[in-house]
Amino acid sequence: MSAPGSLLITDVRPYGEGSPVDVLIVDGVITEIGPGLVAPADTERLAGHNSVLLPGFVDLHTHLREPGREDTETIATGSAAAALGGYTAVFAMANTDPVADNSTVTDNVYRTGREVGLVDVHPVGAVTVGLQGKQLAEMGMMAAGAAKVKMFSDDGKCVDDPLLMRRALEYAKGLDVLIAQHAE
Ligand SMILES: [Zn+2]
Repeated sequence: MSAPGSLLITDVRPYGEGSPVDVLIVDGVITEIGPGLVAPADTERLAGHNSVLLPGFVDLHTHLREPGREDTETIATGSAAAALGGYTAVFAMANTDPVADNSTVTDNVYRTGREVGLVDVHPVGAVTVGLQGKQLAEMGMMAAGAAKVKMFSDDGKCVDDPLLMRRALEYAKGLDVLIAQHAE
C-alpha cells in the first residue's frame, strides 16, 4: 500500500546497521537515505529516536478464522495484530468454514482484507476440496480470481496421497503458484 505525499523518517538505523540516517519517502517510494536530509516544509515527519528500521514483515502462515470462527479471530482483528507487530502482509490459511477451496471464499477474504485496509491479506487456497485429500480444488479459478491466489495448502491436514500431490504440483507449476505442505 503506498500513500501519496512525502514522509521523512529521521534518526533510524536500516536493518540495525551503521549510524542513524534519515529516510525520505515520496508517494510511497523511498527516494533518499542519508544523514541530515532536507525535505520540503509540508513533509510529514516521524522521529525514529535511533530505532531499527526494517521493511514490512510478511507472515506466510496465519489463521484469521473468517469465515466461520469469528468468535476466535476476524480478518479485522488479525490484520490489526499483524500491523501492530510490523507486518504489512499476511497469508490466511484455508481451514475456514466454509473452507477456502473456491474463488468465492478466497475473493471474499481478499476483499474484506482490502476493506479493513491495515495489511495486505492474501488468502491461501486449499489444495483439495474441503481439505479432505480426495479431489483437487479449483486452484486455477482461485488463482484467476480477484485475490490472485498464489499459495495453496491443506495446512495441518496435509496431502498424503502421492498421486494427488503430484497432480497438484503439476497444476501449480502450470499456474505459477506454490504448494505449501505443512511440516510434520
Ligand atoms: Zn496452520
